[in-house]
Amino acid sequence: MREDSQVPYDLETQKLRCEQAWLRFKLAIYDLVLGKPAPEAKFNPYHDELGRFTFAPGGVGGGAAHSSASGHHDASDTGADQKNDYETSDPEFKVPAEIRPRLIRLASEFHSATGKTLVVTSVARDAHAQADAMYIKFTRGGLGSEYIDRTAFNEIHDAYILNRHQGKSPGDTVRAMQSVISAQMARGVYISKHLKAGAVDVRSSSLTKAEVFKVLEIASRHGVRAIHEDAPNHIHLQF
Ligand SMILES: [Zn+2]
Repeated sequence: MREDSQVPYDLETQKLRCEQAWLRFKLAIYDLVLGKPAPEAKFNPYHDELGRFTFAPGGVGGGAAHSSASGHHDASDTGADQKNDYETSDPEFKVPAEIRPRLIRLASEFHSATGKTLVVTSVARDAHAQADAMYIKFTRGGLGSEYIDRTAFNEIHDAYILNRHQGKSPGDTVRAMQSVISAQMARGVYISKHLKAGAVDVRSSSLTKAEVFKVLEIASRHGVRAIHEDAPNHIHLQF
């Protein structure tokens, strides 16, 4: 029996599913034509061994600060942030002042509930780092369904598909995606709040399912939009 009240929701879901099926199809075809993309481990110094994004704005730019074998720093070497119930995966990270008090409240509550410390793995991105993060996501089969602005998303994804199709290198493909993102920013379109320093990512690989759920639950109570994303695994917190 039809439930007419659900039709608008179903249409939206169907539209998204169709779009995702189409993206999967395109990616499968290009994988078939181009071969599976090469491993990304050495591609960008701003990612740790799990491909987690570690760009620090105003940082010293790669080099020693990013060379930690594990990408992990314990509380003793996270500098100013160590007493706030969250750590950063890179000591160069500075959580923007506008969102810091809310992140501390969220992290403290999580710490009280679980005894665990949230680890911030991404703070803010420039257009290149955003392109890089999306490139990594696409090569790992991520479909980008979390991006709300589908027009902006498709422009970036098309740049990815087109450049891969033309056999361009990962570096050139990322630069092409970066140009699209920069052009969008110039006209006031931001594909991710990371571009405006309004979001952070926290590590989820060290959390149990229940703990991930706890983060989502606390975030929703604090009016923070939280999305558990894979490829690579993290929780995106949008303030
Ligand atoms: Zn994020």
